[in-house]
Amino acid sequence: MHNKFKLSFLITVLLIIVIVTVSCLLTKHTYTKTDYALNTIVKITIEAKTANQAKAMATLATDEVKRIENLLSCYKEESDVYRINNYAHTEPIKVSGETYELIKRCLYYNRLTDGAFDITVKPLVDLWNINSANPQVPRDADIKSALEGVGINNIILMEGNRVYIKNPRTKIDFGGVAKGYCANQIKQILENNGITNALIDLGGNIYAMGKNQNGDSWNIGIQKPFAQRGETIKSIKLSNQSAVTSGAYERCFENKGNIYHHILNPKTGYPAESDFKSVTVISTDSELCDALSTALFVAGMQKVEAICKKIDSIYVMAVNNNDKVTEFGNKSK
Ligand code: AMP
Ligand code: MG
Repeated sequence: MHNKFKLSFLITVLLIIVIVTVSCLLTKHTYTKTDYALNTIVKITIEAKTANQAKAMATLATDEVKRIENLLSCYKEESDVYRINNYAHTEPIKVSGETYELIKRCLYYNRLTDGAFDITVKPLVDLWNINSANPQVPRDADIKSALEGVGINNIILMEGNRVYIKNPRTKIDFGGVAKGYCANQIKQILENNGITNALIDLGGNIYAMGKNQNGDSWNIGIQKPFAQRGETIKSIKLSNQSAVTSGAYERCFENKGNIYHHILNPKTGYPAESDFKSVTVISTDSELCDALSTALFVAGMQKVEAICKKIDSIYVMAVNNNDKVTEFGNKSK
């Protein structure tokens, strides 16, 4: 009798241990970290097996944003971009393989978009200085002069990760692609660490990994252009996909009734006179989304379809000037 009691007590204890262990293994912990880097609000939401793991992963993600900022910033003196912009016209500058490959891909995006995406817009970005407290419309002559530095032919990629800039006026700016590159990097790091569900939000440059806390695809709202932040014009469901929006409303100023914004036409030197108020590109490659959202905004309605045909893995939602949403590309991919 005594032994029987002992046995049933042991079985009960064992059962409790098993139930507690299984429920611990099944419980998911979600953690959201917000930070500021790459000139934007970074918000990372991660689901992991333990609260500590979720926290540690979110820190890995924000550390990665800072690492990329240190590599690509135009202002940090040790960054590859600063060194290229300041010294690569006197002699070839050795940069990290990562920066070198990113430049290479940006040259590809330039060709893909007939020049609408161009990292050599930097002299124009500096001239328009749209982030300053009191931006002004530059003089025509200054725009013409800045345009002389614009053109990817001025970038010479040499062996050994060296970059040479032919024209002393030419400078590069990864502002149109850095967040997308960064989102891809974070996604890869999280994936390598066994994370399947996460939402990477770099100032609206989204990568939606797996599912949300309810087990559904992530619901992403597309900002209604020029409306209050958070007011959406349309929502999309994403799982293992990125969505990136470029919009005139993001950074702009008004002068004599005209709106001047931060997405520049590399051919004219002026803010792109677009058919669109915003362009959102959806695909599994956030860098491609970022480069193409900028480029399609510049290229306009006439060229969107042709560019979408060249890459069948993207889906585009463009808000035209009457707030109508037009969709292009292949939704299922
Ligand atoms: P996004 O918000 O991704 O559309 O990028 C806009 C930022 O990219 C600007 O603030 C500039 O730094 C840079 N940029 C502006 N026009 C272009 C362009 N045509 N091609 C590439 N980068 C651009
Ligand atoms: Mg972009």
